[in-house]
Amino acid sequence: MALACYAVNEDISRGREKTESKPKFRDEFQRDRDRIIHSASFRRLVYKTQVFVNHEGDLYRTRLTHSLEVSQIARTIAASLGLNETLVESIALAHDLGHTPFGHAGQDELNNCMSEFGGFEHNLQSLRIVDHLEKRYAEFRGLNLMFETREGILKHCSKKNARKLGKIGERFLNRNRPSLEAQLADLADAISYNHHDVDDGYRAGILSFDQLSEINLFGKFLFKIKKEYPQISDNQVMHETLRRMVSFVIGDLIDNSKYLIDEHNPKNIDDVRNAVINLIQLSEQTEKEHSELKLFLRSYLYKNEVVDEMTKKAKVMIRTLFDSYMSGDVKINDNLDFEKGMDPTKKARKIADYIAGMTDRFAISEYNRLS
Ligand code: MG
Repeated sequence: MALACYAVNEDISRGREKTESKPKFRDEFQRDRDRIIHSASFRRLVYKTQVFVNHEGDLYRTRLTHSLEVSQIARTIAASLGLNETLVESIALAHDLGHTPFGHAGQDELNNCMSEFGGFEHNLQSLRIVDHLEKRYAEFRGLNLMFETREGILKHCSKKNARKLGKIGERFLNRNRPSLEAQLADLADAISYNHHDVDDGYRAGILSFDQLSEINLFGKFLFKIKKEYPQISDNQVMHETLRRMVSFVIGDLIDNSKYLIDEHNPKNIDDVRNAVINLIQLSEQTEKEHSELKLFLRSYLYKNEVVDEMTKKAKVMIRTLFDSYMSGDVKINDNLDFEKGMDPTKKARKIADYIAGMTDRFAISEYNRLS
């Protein structure tokens, strides 16, 4: 399908920080996607926790499979709205690169460790990785991605940080909107984890059909499936319910966004940036139901004691790593080498970058070595 007039394409792109010659066999956004897939940070996602620690079971989502699911959902929606499919794919694949080991617990504790040194935020870290920390190319630092890919990766940003970021931070100060592709990747993330965390929570024996039947978005499909197919197994009921739920939400997002796009009639990307609202949105009713599910997961899954036990352990590990590295002033290895008398803020940032880049299992082995 041809790109719509409001989609991002390489001819109207704000381009790369460092100018490069045009790629021979692919377009500019395909080049971005390929650079992300070939990055070391992307490969590490396979050993990073989404909700359940990677070694707890082989069937749970990891950051990598989560990112692939986000990309699949985002591409389906992009294609039906005439948006740039490769751009949403790149944003989706890169959106969680900055996550620490051990999921949100890891990020919260690293942020605590960094409180005197400018804090730690996984979103900003994803951008930092693609802009600075991947050092593989001869001619530039980072992956030198297109502006629109970087803009989509930086979903949120405080005003304080936005001021330090130059062009990419401007929209948070001027209250402009990002491209529709960025808006879409953000929502596809929420649709994806709301759906797969139910699946993983059920598989772990933490969530039950009884509890879930109270949630509107889930309950309405569960009820129908149980009636239509009284003979199928619980696992089939779960899968069938989730697949109908997720297609319903995707359908709602497509219909409602089409309606908003029609209504606001953006002629180009500037109209999208200056629009008074985000044009990629769920309908009010579905948004409500989607939030209900999100709140349910927060109380019954993320704060469940099994998950919480892991959270506590993760916090101790991250804190121990940070404090040990901070108190030492010797070379730890090639990636963590401190100059004597190094400024503590710079040192702390170097340590945060190092810890954030760890996989779960590397963090555990470092913790065992150091404690
Ligand atoms: Mg995510």
